[in-house]
Formats: sequence, structure tokens, C-alpha cells
Amino acid sequence: MSVTRRTATNVLLDTALKNFYGAAEEMRLSEDLIAILGNSERRLEVSVPVEMDDGSIHVFKGYRVQHSTAIGPAKGGIRFHPDVDVDECEALAMLMTWKCSLAGIPYGGGKGGISCNPQVMSPKEKERMSRAFAARIAPIVGTWKDVPAPDVNTGGQEMVWFMDTISKMHGQVEPGIFTGKPISYWGSKGRTAATGYGVATCGLELLKVVGKDPKDIRVAIQGFGNVGQYTALTMEEAGAKVVAISNTRGVYYSPKGIDIKKALAYIEEHPRERLEGFTCDGCEKIDDIVSLDCDMFFPCALEGVVNAKNADQVKAKWIVEGANGPVTPEGDEILDKRGIIVVPDFLANSGGVIGSYFEWAQDLSGYFWPEDEYNKRLMHIMKGNFKLVWDYAQSKKIKMRRAAFMAAIQRVADVVRLRGVFL
Ligand code: GLU
Repeated sequence: MSVTRRTATNVLLDTALKNFYGAAEEMRLSEDLIAILGNSERRLEVSVPVEMDDGSIHVFKGYRVQHSTAIGPAKGGIRFHPDVDVDECEALAMLMTWKCSLAGIPYGGGKGGISCNPQVMSPKEKERMSRAFAARIAPIVGTWKDVPAPDVNTGGQEMVWFMDTISKMHGQVEPGIFTGKPISYWGSKGRTAATGYGVATCGLELLKVVGKDPKDIRVAIQGFGNVGQYTALTMEEAGAKVVAISNTRGVYYSPKGIDIKKALAYIEEHPRERLEGFTCDGCEKIDDIVSLDCDMFFPCALEGVVNAKNADQVKAKWIVEGANGPVTPEGDEILDKRGIIVVPDFLANSGGVIGSYFEWAQDLSGYFWPEDEYNKRLMHIMKGNFKLVWDYAQSKKIKMRRAAFMAAIQRVADVVRLRGVFL
């Protein structure tokens, strides 16, 4: 059967589909498998009515998309952001399928979110919204069905609200339905740092294979949330000079290097301001981080930041994608022609979901590991996966993104073939 290729108006979904079709065709995947994996199993849209603090009712839109449950329960985060829509969730859910497959963990891919601006909501409003959303998606999530986790603008607190709501609905504690929970409540030591730690590990492994010492490397990190912070900290600890960090309000640049521990302490002391007002030796505030003179660039914020308009201005030799989809396909092509190596998102930031897998495994057994055990296992998997993709890319003379896609798609396709069509 020949399959018509899906296209989408949503840039992220269109990119996800193009990346999938491109790799699938290069692998000569059968048209039947392309048809199955080019579509999502389930796209759920829910309304989320919330009583706001002023007494008015606001109905938010929420989503949960399960792209594939071929390998195991769908897995992937839930984000709170004004741009969230069902297509974006589908694109990110597809990415989760490849991420979990490449990571070698027993999950499929899912993603969800609520279209909202959490920055302007009170904690009570966010709690009511989180609980209403959890109740709405309750029929399709579960320890062996779909296991959500934090994503953009969500963290341990939201996971507790979700878990508590569903536990109350089920009349029993349900620790295995959400990961990324606080350590005090069924979470796991190591999970908070896991994504950034894994991103930095990929950066350091890359430096190893290209024969560079981290001490000679200048690093720029876009986004100073959970992923950016731990990436920065790990790179600094490895000896690299972090010359720039940024958030939505600006880029903080110092050619002398920024003391990351000081920046973290500043955020701790000024949680509302985030980095606003932060200063350091030689520090100046600049506008753009993408074109900054540095060796390794870590985009750890949102998607599409390196694109057709600015990819030719990138000065870094290496990009490690901490965020999901930070480089558009057009941007990717330009970077590739310029010889800039990109470690793709679903390899680089897979530390988060691998860490989630550890948390889930601990929740299921009710036995918790010490942090060094967690980090040792995470490091081992990340290094192994980096090597697999690097060696595959070298042997086939293709870029790392294509190699990662091909390895990831292969595993899912093998399981779909094994199980047959009636999934
Ligand atoms: N939101 C993270 C990601 O995009 C974590 C997902 C998870 O742990 O399920 O990989």
C-alpha cells in the first residue's frame, strides 16, 4: 500500500512528521509501518473549568496525546503554556516515542498540556486547574497505560496535585501514574537533576570523541530553568567556562565565565525576579545568545530558536539540544552544511525520561535507591546511547539526528511487527 504523507500547519508537528518520514524512507521501512507510526493512537482534548480567585469561571483547553503504546505505557510530560495545542502535543508525543525507544526503556510516547499562562495565575488557581485536568484525563492515564511527567512550567508540585487527585478518585495511593514527584512524596533522589545532567553528559561525551578538553571550552546556555541550571552546573563542574546563561528576559554574558553556583543562589534568593538584577565579574546583558561567540551551545528553552533566519550566524561548533525541537529542519540543514555537529534532543535530553523510568521502577517496587546509584545508572545509559548514535552516524556518514531517528524507529517497528496490527 502506498501511503500519503501527512503534513501539518503546526510547525513542530510538520517537523516531527518530516523527520520521521525522512528517516523511515532512508531505512526502507515498509509503507504499512510508515502508515501506523505516522499517526497517533489517541488525541484527547478536554475542557478544564477553573474557578479563578475573583470568583469567575475560566474554561481552559487541555490535551493528552498518545502517539504509540507499542513498546509499553505512553510516557511524556505535561506542559502549561499559552502556545499548547493538540498538534504541538502530538509532535512532542511522537518525539517521546523515539526518545524512549532510543533510551531502551519500556515505554511508548505521549505528551499533554494546558493552554494557559501560569505566570499570571495564583498557586490556588494552578492547583484547581491541575486537579481538574487530572480528573479529565483520568480515563486514559495509568501505571500501565500512560505515565505523565513534568515539562515546561510544571514540576513536582503539579505532579503531586495530579497524583493526589487520581489517588482520591481510585481510593488508593497511585504512585506509578506520574513521575517527577518530590522526593518526600514517592519521588526519587536524582530525578530533578537528571535531564540537565544527561544533557551535559552528552556534551562531555561529544568533547571526548572530538578530542577536546572541557577546560578549553566556552559554553552558552539558553534557558535557566531546571534543564539549563543542571546542564550549566555539570559543565562548570567538568571545568568548562560557562560564558552565557539566559532566560526570557535577557542574556547574561561574561567572557570571564559566570559562577553558576552564584547564579543559582541568586535565583534561590530572588525567586520572583529569576535572573533579573543578577551581576557577576565582567557581566553584561546582551540581546542574543544564538549568535554568541562560544564553542558549545546548549538551547535548553523552547522550540525553533535556531532556524532559517539565524542558523548562519551560529558561532558554536557544537550544539547539544536540551530543549525539545530547538532547531528547525531548515536551521538543521544550514548547520549541517556548515559542519556544526548537533546532538539531537531526543538523545541529549533523554536523561529526564530515563530518570522517570528509575522513579517508576522504584515506585512499583516500593524500594528507593540512593542518589549515587541513580546517577551511576543514568550516566551508564546516557554514555552508551551517545556512543550508539555517534558510531552509527560515523559508520553511515549521516548526521546524528538521522542516526538517532533510524535506531529509535527500528526498535518500535520491530515491536509493532512482532505484535501485529491489532495493538
Ligand atoms: N518532559 C520530559 C521530556 O520531554 C520528561 C518526560 C518524562 O519523564 O516522562 O522528556
